[in-house]
Amino acid sequence: MDAARIGHFVDGERIDGTSGRHGDVFDPATGRRTGLVALAGAADVAVAVEAAGRAARSWRDASLARRTAVLFAFRELVHARRDRLAEVITAEHGKVLADAAGEVQRGLEVVEYACGIASALRGRFSENVSTGVDSYSLRQPLGVVAVISPFNFPVMVPLWFVPIAVACGNTVVLKPSEKDPGAALLLAEWFVEAGLPAGVLNVVNGDAEAVDALLDHPDVRAVSFVGSTPVARHVHRRATLTGKRVQALGGAKNHLVVLPDADLDLAADAAVNAGFGSAGERCMAISALVAVEPVADALVARIAARMAGLRTGDGRRGCDMGPLVTAAHLARVRGYVEAGVAAGAVPVVDGRDVVPDGDPNGFWLGPTLFDRVTPDMSVYTDEIFGPVLGVVRVDSYDAAVALVNANPYGNGTAVFTNDGGAARRFQHEVEVGMVGINVPIPVPMAYYSFGGWKASLFGDLHAHGEDGVRFFTRGKVVTSRWPDPRHGGVNLGFPTQT
Ligand code: NAD
Repeated sequence: MDAARIGHFVDGERIDGTSGRHGDVFDPATGRRTGLVALAGAADVAVAVEAAGRAARSWRDASLARRTAVLFAFRELVHARRDRLAEVITAEHGKVLADAAGEVQRGLEVVEYACGIASALRGRFSENVSTGVDSYSLRQPLGVVAVISPFNFPVMVPLWFVPIAVACGNTVVLKPSEKDPGAALLLAEWFVEAGLPAGVLNVVNGDAEAVDALLDHPDVRAVSFVGSTPVARHVHRRATLTGKRVQALGGAKNHLVVLPDADLDLAADAAVNAGFGSAGERCMAISALVAVEPVADALVARIAARMAGLRTGDGRRGCDMGPLVTAAHLARVRGYVEAGVAAGAVPVVDGRDVVPDGDPNGFWLGPTLFDRVTPDMSVYTDEIFGPVLGVVRVDSYDAAVALVNANPYGNGTAVFTNDGGAARRFQHEVEVGMVGINVPIPVPMAYYSFGGWKASLFGDLHAHGEDGVRFFTRGKVVTSRWPDPRHGGVNLGFPTQT
């Protein structure tokens, strides 16, 4: 089968680009190359930014009613075609269809939030701040913004940003992951079908070269990035050099703390779901299970029993867990499993032995559970981004919180307990941006904002919700006086209220 050519989407049309560079796209469940994606150079990026710049001149003046009508229509299109979108995600990313459908749903929730942009953009008005003088605030679009997304959520992460950016009156250049570029092109086409003018949303496919061209382009006003921490740090540093507004969400190492009074069956279900869903390729996946003694033995046994029932295989066959995204990522994750064994962690379940329900050439690794992980081992220190869960045993609540807080990442965490006081203390003391109490993957709803602390986010504002609206707008305050025959004449003093 010939690999499909995947280009860019600029000014309302699919184009091939001019760089001459291409990357391979695989079906991870078969190992077969299914696509050849164009990798944009600086010239391709410039064409997309130019198109977005032209569109920005009129889109910023589109009424809120018109912008909202587009978003409602887009919401209906995606909702009606969610199965098609899920199929594309599964074909390029590998996650099982039900998980892909869940991703589409979480993205749709941000579209729905953006449908209410008219209230989110309301300003404030103060009458008579001085005699006959009124003051009011406006929020205005930035212009052209760039959105750069990772492979693990090819629909949801673009939808964290694009709907709010366009609802606020900006135009966008989206650079999806080169590993699974297909879904972003569909989203862009469907936006145009929903009535978004050509050029308001453009997609350039590519790798680091395209990203750096966006970061350096003087007409790009803001960058929303999601990906690994080293690249997030680079994006923040380089884009702020040219004065851009940046939110760069990075990697994670999320801990699930189980206190001795917790419901161990609930905690075991949560650990399995959050550890192995999407093969652990989620920035909110749980990869460190902190068992506060004496619960570790009982908890490990319960988790291992549940893992025995998991079916790893092709995401189109009703399996629980799919393959990893690429052969290179598989090799990396297997390397961590080997390093864990060599360092003395106890492999309670070893995913290297998995017999997948799928093509033997797929990128398979079964769910893996390590017990007796210690904080010096690479299975603990590094973000593995695979189906590998490590149990760290500690002997007190304080030791558990100290461990979480000593970690350089601060994306998500969860505590499992039936003690309200302990849970409240945990939410207060833990240095992490998103906290679950008996909820293992505490991803905020669209009307709250998503973002971690420490090395999990560079920048100030989180994604979507109120932070999203603030990120994609600039505040302006107007102070106005209309001619009044009683005006006060010349006065060089600093303006104060009278
Ligand atoms: P990645 O950092 O390799 O790639 C992310 C994006 O950056 C892609 O579009 C890629 O093309 C581009 N890129 C890659 N290397 C680059 C470089 N050297 N210079 C400039 N651009 C570059 O991340 P990934 O492997 O696609 O995604 C997985 C990572 O994303 C994990 O670390 C995960 O935790 C993180 N992630 C974080 C969140 C969050 O909300 N914090 C959400 C999803 C994923």
